[in-house]
Amino acid sequence: MRYENVLATIGNTPLIHLSRITKDLPAKIYGKVEAYNPGQSAKDRTALFMVEQAEREGLIKPGDTIVEATSGNTGYSLAMICSLKGYRCVLTVSSKASQEKLSLLKAMGAEVVVCPADAAPEDPRSYYSRAKQLSEDIPGAYYLAQNFNLNNSKAHYSSTGPEIWEQTEGKITHYVCCAGTGGTLSGTARYLKEKNPDIKIIAVDAYGSVLKKYWETGEFDQSEIYPYKVEGLGKTIIPGNVAFDLIDDFIKVTDRSSAHRARQLARQEGLLVGYSSGSAMQAVFRLKEQLKPTDVVVALFPDHGTRYLGKIYNDEWMKQQGFMQQPAPLNGEHPHP
Ligand code: PMP
Repeated sequence: MRYENVLATIGNTPLIHLSRITKDLPAKIYGKVEAYNPGQSAKDRTALFMVEQAEREGLIKPGDTIVEATSGNTGYSLAMICSLKGYRCVLTVSSKASQEKLSLLKAMGAEVVVCPADAAPEDPRSYYSRAKQLSEDIPGAYYLAQNFNLNNSKAHYSSTGPEIWEQTEGKITHYVCCAGTGGTLSGTARYLKEKNPDIKIIAVDAYGSVLKKYWETGEFDQSEIYPYKVEGLGKTIIPGNVAFDLIDDFIKVTDRSSAHRARQLARQEGLLVGYSSGSAMQAVFRLKEQLKPTDVVVALFPDHGTRYLGKIYNDEWMKQQGFMQQPAPLNGEHPHP
């Protein structure tokens, strides 16, 4: 294929049958592998859609500055888009993001401001507050605000959803997707439910995040919040992009099982995917009891494994976390200490 520029290669990622890792599961399981995007994550779709929508609405023009608070992947996609379109890109990043992710952002020409991961969202040092402040301080700056910008989920309504529907020839029965901002989950889920309301939408959350509890009770429970290792998955705020009404089940997974599942995907399926892809895979295993041979499950794998070489793909790091001693439990699991 020949393309006009790198942005034209965003989307149309492959749906890959996972035959070995899932041999004990009764259904057909597929991975929607978003690492095939040029920025190696699903965030290429979101960032491009949000920037182009802002351009269409006359909110930004080349030469302006785009500011965003990001765990890294949105930042990389934005930096790529900004290089091509001629914007300055300023990113506030949580100190939890891996070194590899920070180097990637800088390689792509972004200006990176690292903010303490333990600062509460309303704390002026948090990466949310800093992004907002920078967008007010820098003349001509525009804050994309992916958590509340509904063009985030619209990006997936218009691309990821239709792709999965076509790739499964309408046979999909379960969609398993991590929730961070909620964009990937909600946009895709809305499209799929419109096509077939019986499709089960399974959201994946981290222990240490408020999302599942909020879905269950409608209340923001501060006591749910504590540090965890998986990046991109879960939230300590309630983002406007999570369509809670579309979710049929919410599954929390641990740092440990997410890491082991990602490693298993590499060793058994030849897929070097990111940490939260392991979370999605673990959630599929947790569905085991409810799956039937005719079911078609699609798990979305948000990003590429190279971004975690110093973490889950590093045995020393795994030992330091105490993850090597015990493999991932197959079914039930307990929150980490
Ligand atoms: N996994 C990774 C690695 C991510 O970067 C993100 C995005 N923050 C997610 C999962 C969650 O995606 P979303 O923000 O669309 O909910």
